[in-house]
Amino acid sequence: MPSATVIDAPAATLSVADRCDRCGAQAFAATAHTTTRQMLLWCGHHYTRHEKALLAAGAWQVLDERYRINTSPLASSGTEVDAAGEPPLPGNHRGNRDDR
Ligand SMILES: [Zn+2]
Repeated sequence: MPSATVIDAPAATLSVADRCDRCGAQAFAATAHTTTRQMLLWCGHHYTRHEKALLAAGAWQVLDERYRINTSPLASSGTEVDAAGEPPLPGNHRGNRDDR
């Protein structure tokens, strides 16, 4: 029985429940290996760090939602979401205090 997550393709959208496989921050990118179907979730920081190598390998389907950073509530930021679901205030350019 495989221990890795097996998927058909990266999910259409990522939610706050999707966490970076490296550091546990909110995931804003997902990659699925075209052969093994193994899916990896990435925070903006770690996907940016590994993006070139992943794309150079050419064997990954990519869902990149980094454009959503700071446009939706981030559980890791501790930001409260009001009833209207308003996003965090601008000025918190990363929305994430995890600098690892
Ligand atoms: Zn990460």
